[in-house]
Amino acid sequence: MDQQAETGAIKNLEDMSELVSLCKRRGYVFPSSEVYGGINACWDYGPLGVELKRNVKESWWRAMTDRTDIEGLDAAIMMHPKVWQASGHVEGFTDPLVDCKKCKSRFREDQIDAALVAQKKCPSCGGEITAPRQFNLMFKTFMGPLEDSAAVVYLRPETAQGIYVNFQNVLQTSRQRIPFGIAQIGKAFRNEITPGNFIFRTREFEQMEMQYFVKPGADEASFETWKELRFQWHLSNGIRPEKLRLHQHAEGELAHYAKAAFDIQYEFPFGWQELEGIHNRTDFDLKRHEQFSGKKLEYFDEVGKERYIPYVVETSAGCDRTLLVLLVDAYRAGADRVWLKLHPKLAPYKVGLFPLMKKPELMEYTDRVFADVRKQFRTFVDEAGSIGKRYRRQDEIGTPYGVTIDYDTLSNHTVTIRDRDTMAQERIPAEKICQVLQERIESWKP
Ligand code: ATP
Repeated sequence: MDQQAETGAIKNLEDMSELVSLCKRRGYVFPSSEVYGGINACWDYGPLGVELKRNVKESWWRAMTDRTDIEGLDAAIMMHPKVWQASGHVEGFTDPLVDCKKCKSRFREDQIDAALVAQKKCPSCGGEITAPRQFNLMFKTFMGPLEDSAAVVYLRPETAQGIYVNFQNVLQTSRQRIPFGIAQIGKAFRNEITPGNFIFRTREFEQMEMQYFVKPGADEASFETWKELRFQWHLSNGIRPEKLRLHQHAEGELAHYAKAAFDIQYEFPFGWQELEGIHNRTDFDLKRHEQFSGKKLEYFDEVGKERYIPYVVETSAGCDRTLLVLLVDAYRAGADRVWLKLHPKLAPYKVGLFPLMKKPELMEYTDRVFADVRKQFRTFVDEAGSIGKRYRRQDEIGTPYGVTIDYDTLSNHTVTIRDRDTMAQERIPAEKICQVLQERIESWKP
């Protein structure tokens, strides 16, 4: 059976609960604090989840910083409270919250159908909903022993502000000239009214943001470039093109800082939703930080002999949401197996190693292969159960290749390499395992 290609219909993910259960069962994502019954919309990454997440970040970081015009940064989560006044978050980072008087459900008014809003009707039970209250999404805490208003600090709701307030530091130390960018990966926190859909919307999450500083007037062209580059990045991770689209924000949808904005959206089982935002933030943020801090945040162009505050094109992707998209997009269910068609460069394990039987001579050979292969590729050795079962287990966690060591291996030093996606098997010399894996990973196509 494993020699053949998949027969019958192959299904994609239709119900998020299938993925949630696979992630729990196999160690991708666990409910947080599960022994205490969990905590709403908080999730922990298990052994496989953490590897996938690292690979996602690595892919993003490389795409950003392999260029000579982008520098990295890792700013603190807690910042001077004035940062959030200047950025507009204290005043304006709010969502309209409505409650149903009958079933007590809570909603974001902007996420309810406009006809229901006009009739003040609850989307769950049809009961009457309250008038909207503006709810600030920033988490507040206190720094130091006194819990008074002078000690209030916020957990950052976006990583971008850490970049703006370090604009001059990075400019001076890196000796970049405009145009250039600053990239950062880090945690952000939002007290979301309606978190949910697994790790799609949580209150604690990681962002991968890059702010690109350009001369005013060059912003629109740069915006177009980054829109394209970011779309291509998601494709380069193996996401199916028909599941991705660009959505332009209409006037009324634009954030307070934005002149133009596009979302890269993905078609989840629960509909088209934002995966990444590309925003033309103009000089809004740097200007505001100049005003609030009293420090100059302008740039001196030595060629043109002019001073200006740069415009900013921002690319803002959720790391957890990218990981969710990768899992949703990779999920396949066939007649008798489930497999994750993850891009091999992102998969937690690149190869499974299987001694056909638990016999000392096969185990010994496997150990030697393992010692060699693991130097280059994350390798999982599995000697338990039938070979078919072992293939299925690796398929289900997305391991792209399997190598089986059998009795022929002992006599002629060849092994069988199996492909997760096609289930095709090929006999290759044992000494070529690393070379073949490398070639296959590099030439893999979705
Ligand atoms: P929404 O309007 O859906 O709340 P947003 O437009 O405010 O989201 P951005 O501020 O543009 O979102 O955030 C940039 C990216 O950060 C999003 O595209 C998403 O990938 C990620 N992100 C934002 N909020 C969350 C969250 N609560 N949980 C997980 N990821 C998030």
